[in-house]
Amino acid sequence: MPIDFIAATYIGSFEDSGLLLEVYDEVNRYFMREELPIRMLFVGKLSIPPGYLINLQTEAGTVKLYPLEAILDALHSKLLHEIESKGSIKMDKIFALVSFPLVSRNPYFDFYEQFFGIQEERVGLRMMVLSVKPFENGAERREMFKNRLLKGVLHEIGHSYGLSHCQNNCVMNPPANMDEWDSRFLGYCDSCFLEIKRKLSLLEFELP
Ligand SMILES: [Zn+2]
Ligand SMILES: [Zn+2]
Repeated sequence: MPIDFIAATYIGSFEDSGLLLEVYDEVNRYFMREELPIRMLFVGKLSIPPGYLINLQTEAGTVKLYPLEAILDALHSKLLHEIESKGSIKMDKIFALVSFPLVSRNPYFDFYEQFFGIQEERVGLRMMVLSVKPFENGAERREMFKNRLLKGVLHEIGHSYGLSHCQNNCVMNPPANMDEWDSRFLGYCDSCFLEIKRKLSLLEFELP
């Protein structure tokens, strides 16, 4: 079965960008352990021209951030570029962890959730964006923060393979709060796992 690659990047300024790479690495370890032919391929940090920065007034003061529309455009062209330069591999998805909250004027995205990210598909190419902001609150240890993000990335990837939310002890079961998320099983439940496998074999079947 050919490996399905997901381009992985990050946007914004992170004090500990090494942690993000560790998260992507852990995602790959998970897929390897579970023998799922999905791998994240780090394609470097993504810079968006500062002209797109907007100021958002929050309770904590003014936050500078990029609006979702600018992020999705940048991800889309980055993915097109990566597909062109790495022609021989199978890759139609891109994932970005971002350091700032997600803000948009357009409420019509595929997914918009309290703790999670946003996905958009454009002619078969899928962009996924996940803010680390909601996962920072009360994360006393680095390991805890890392695990929260790891589950968040698996959650978004699950959606990108057509998974809906589930009620089991599973990363596809969205939490009411971060404590719940911390206690959630790190991985897909049996039914979500089978659904991804089914989707992957269908994808293979569709290949010419
Ligand atoms: Zn979700
Ligand atoms: Zn599940």
